Amino acid sequence: MTPLWPCSQCGAPGARNIAAHGYCATHATDLYRSLPVEAWRDGGRGLSTGQHRPDHGPEFHDLRCALCGATWVGTLLESCQWCRDRIDAQRATQARLLLNPHLPSVDNPNRVGAIVEWGRRLAHATQTGVVTETDAHHAINRIEGNHDRAA
Ligand SMILES: [Zn+2]
Ligand SMILES: [Zn+2]
Repeated sequence: MTPLWPCSQCGAPGARNIAAHGYCATHATDLYRSLPVEAWRDGGRGLSTGQHRPDHGPEFHDLRCALCGATWVGTLLESCQWCRDRIDAQRATQARLLLNPHLPSVDNPNRVGAIVEWGRRLAHATQTGVVTETDAHHAINRIEGNHDRAA
């Protein structure tokens, strides 16, 4: 691991090296705080509130999540547990909806198109890890099974 350089802006002890510059906790926080919200799509990270917490260890600070505002004591840019939990819950809901699609009935001419569209979304969800391949196969078999029975 590269040793931490002193902050290139204020000379304080470095907390992070970013793109060949040293950053103290405050200046790293300024930099990350200037990022657009889309930067935290995978969950927020803890930015320093400016309070060093050497009582927890030399690397510890009072942190506030850049996205949801949760606060905790941790190391700079630690990923936020609250955001992770929320994203996991969202994914679980998304997966449940996707695995139990509301499709037009078998005598509806739109059904085939709807199944194709659903299959596309299911494939994407499998690639991004929202649903497992096994669950996707089961869901497809279920739809096909319904179809055969009705035919
Ligand atoms: Zn600094
Ligand atoms: Zn958060």
